[in-house]
Amino acid sequence: MKSLDDIAAALQGYDPNALSVNQVHAFLAELVQPVSADESQDAFLFAALGRVLAQDVVSPISVPAHNNSAMDGFAFDAAQLHTDQPLMLRVVGTALAGKAWQGKVNAGECLKIMTGAILPDNLDTVVPQEFCQVVASHDVTTITIPPNILKAGDNRRLMGEDLMQGQAALQAGQHLTPAALGLVASLGLPDVRVHRRLRVAYFSTGDEVLSLGEAPREGAVFDSNRYTVFGMLTRMGCEVMDMGVVRDDPVLLEAAFAKAALEADAIITSGGVSVGEADFTKAMMKKLGDVAFWKIAMRPGRPMAVGRIGKSVLFGLPGNPVAVMVTFLAFVRPALLRMMGSTAQPAPLLRAKSLEPLRKKAGRTEYQRGFVSSAADGTLHVRTTGNQGSGVLSSMVQGNGLIVLHHAQGNVAVGDEVDVMMFEGAI
Ligand code: AMP
Ligand code: MG
Repeated sequence: MKSLDDIAAALQGYDPNALSVNQVHAFLAELVQPVSADESQDAFLFAALGRVLAQDVVSPISVPAHNNSAMDGFAFDAAQLHTDQPLMLRVVGTALAGKAWQGKVNAGECLKIMTGAILPDNLDTVVPQEFCQVVASHDVTTITIPPNILKAGDNRRLMGEDLMQGQAALQAGQHLTPAALGLVASLGLPDVRVHRRLRVAYFSTGDEVLSLGEAPREGAVFDSNRYTVFGMLTRMGCEVMDMGVVRDDPVLLEAAFAKAALEADAIITSGGVSVGEADFTKAMMKKLGDVAFWKIAMRPGRPMAVGRIGKSVLFGLPGNPVAVMVTFLAFVRPALLRMMGSTAQPAPLLRAKSLEPLRKKAGRTEYQRGFVSSAADGTLHVRTTGNQGSGVLSSMVQGNGLIVLHHAQGNVAVGDEVDVMMFEGAI
């Protein structure tokens, strides 16, 4: 395991007092490692939503298991098609979905077939009912297929076209989404091998922070950070350990960090890391672990502490509620996903036209709360949610994404395109 100093030494132009967002990403990619696959467990599909696969899911069957019809119609051998004249065929039976049709279809013959029914080996094409003329007289039914409307293989689903037997249907590192659960079920597999849940402990610090239920007092604020952090962790499928509000008291802080480090893979704190704080939190982090204190060129969320206490990774977030959510989304979330063993790539940023001028200083990354909508012409528009103060939590509720104004970027004029990180699913 690399020490923080080793990681810092390998990072181009590392300056803890002026880190770019990209440098933070590079640092965290070295600091955090996936949990061991040795600690994986079997989970029933209904309990596996949001978990991460520890092993490939190898398909025991081909899907579909047989060549079958994609339409209600008539199956035949396309070698008989003429380019210039209609093809007349006699119907010799009906194949229904769910069972194989017994019999032989010879030249000049076809089989009435339903969607999903197995296609006999010597037939390769299905003509939809509505494309041909059907004539029934006495006990003989014939169809006539006009020329040039079909080619060999039309309306046929090939065996294994979704999945081939023996192939990895899903790979280790896959996050189990609803679609992935369905895919596993379609293979007839009732359970999957997943990484154990990541255990994340969190607490808030600060003497002015009140837990819900405490009597309000002047100058104090109710703790909202534990609730946003709880929600974002739960959305990610983490096992959460809520440790409450910890006062600025060395004894209490030490006990909290020690307990968290013993039980959790990661510890998230909020508050107490900014410049000019009563130094208890920072001092305790320093005493108990290998921790770096950063000033990041970003807004909101400039101060942050990162490191290890025991085997746990520490994310010491700032106190301001919006700064907590933004630093979580920008840094903690990707780092935790990596720890969970997920190989998911971050969702791509979208481009949207700004409906407002935005003031932006080059030399730092800004995350403004935005509301993205589709214009009548199909392009995306974005406006800000108004007051961008780092304590204005309502902006995170009103917005549906963050406008990401990159490090080198300057002011934005009305109509300029900007990058947007949508919240969908994350908050
Ligand atoms: P700090 O980073 O500790 O200087 O806190 C910055 C601001 O965030 C202060 O106004 C705090 O009152 C506020 N704050 C800190 N922790 C919380 C919390 N858990 N919930 C809501 N606001 C908080
Ligand atoms: Mg504080």
